[in-house]
Amino acid sequence: MGGSAKRLSVPRVRKCAACGTERPRTELIRVVRLPGGGIEINTSGPMPGRGAYLCARAECIRLAAKKNSLSRVLKRPVPQEIYAMIGKMCDRGENDQHG
Ligand SMILES: [Zn+2]
Repeated sequence: MGGSAKRLSVPRVRKCAACGTERPRTELIRVVRLPGGGIEINTSGPMPGRGAYLCARAECIRLAAKKNSLSRVLKRPVPQEIYAMIGKMCDRGENDQHG
């Protein structure tokens, strides 16, 4: 009788760098530090490099920008433009729901 514990399948969740909430990857925005050192928002398909995640919520983006959460996770300075771009992506989503 082998008593090896079965591994439960782990849901694909990631932690938001701002609020620390765990969510499915589909509900998070991924920001990548590319191998070359550049910072990009991962909008489609998997991109290589170290990733940081943020909820697609204006509140989290603002908090992350204020605390520089992405820089801490990615260990690279993240330009405020990146936060601004993510913020715009979220605004669009919210506007779509309205009306
Ligand atoms: Zn969050």
